[in-house]
Amino acid sequence: MQPASRADAFAALDLAPGALPAEIKRAFRRLAMQWHPDRNNGHGAAERFRQIKAAHDYLVRGDEDVEADTAADTNSAPARGPDQQETLWLDIEEAIFGGVHVLELERPEVCGECAGAGRITLASSRMCSCCRGSGRVRSKTGLDHCDACGGRGYSAEVRCETCDGTGETRSGRKVRVTVPAGMWPGRRLRLAGKAAPVGDLPPGDLLLHSQLRLHGLFALRGDALEVTVPVPLFDLLAGGAVSVPVPGGDIETVSVAAGTVTETRHTLVGHGLPLRSGGRGDLSVLLQPALPEKLGKADLDALRVLQETLAGRESKLYPSLAEWRARWLDATASKSGRKSRKKSR
Ligand SMILES: [Zn+2]
Ligand SMILES: [Zn+2]
Repeated sequence: MQPASRADAFAALDLAPGALPAEIKRAFRRLAMQWHPDRNNGHGAAERFRQIKAAHDYLVRGDEDVEADTAADTNSAPARGPDQQETLWLDIEEAIFGGVHVLELERPEVCGECAGAGRITLASSRMCSCCRGSGRVRSKTGLDHCDACGGRGYSAEVRCETCDGTGETRSGRKVRVTVPAGMWPGRRLRLAGKAAPVGDLPPGDLLLHSQLRLHGLFALRGDALEVTVPVPLFDLLAGGAVSVPVPGGDIETVSVAAGTVTETRHTLVGHGLPLRSGGRGDLSVLLQPALPEKLGKADLDALRVLQETLAGRESKLYPSLAEWRARWLDATASKSGRKSRKKSR
């Protein structure tokens, strides 16, 4: 008593289509506890338990290898149209938290008017519209043989207007996809019976391969999600907590050690992309020091106070700079001092 489709199997387990293997196992354990004949002697419990077990086995087997599943189907299942494979482009938030996604599918179809020929044969010949019946067309070199009618001036074939002579029309259709939470890139969803119909056969399944569409705040660094956060240099120097936006619109914080002056990388555990193994990966946070872009008089006054406060403590604040000055500035100063002494002699 195998379920008729994956959708039925998910329904039997009270799950949304495309639930994770871990969710399937959890739902199965929960329902099995409720309906196992050893625990439940109510009317229909045994039958319900068999349904749950069959749905679980069907989904777990299907999830192991969708391709093999499809191949097996073609031998045993009644004839139906081919499956259709498409890419499901998801925003970060859709991929992590799920939602309803309207997928617009456009595919070329053989023109129904001309059966793909691009031309239509009429019951009787008509005057050729290209050469207006003359069999010749005007060109740069003079009068040429008319290709449309073969030079006869009349033809029983006209260009198909439906497809503009290409033999193909593009048909668009919208498919509503309930995207489960935790779509790692490459995760597949199977929508039973949602492939484009071919001929009179019942439609095959629509197989969706998820991909991430990244824009704005987040970027991919290898397989990890990354966010770059500009921070005023003075805040980094002083140290403390820095606010970081994470997927879903929440704000998390990372802490910076006092005296930080360069870019630093931090990790927010569990705020990254969904993982194949369940749960979520880490978010990599890059803090970039930002310098003031506009300074007013009060800011300059404050800076001067800071400058004066720190003046004379270079050897402690900037050891390598102090060394550089001692070598190149002070030495040059004493050399030019020698020169001027020579001149003055
Ligand atoms: Zn013609
Ligand atoms: Zn056509």
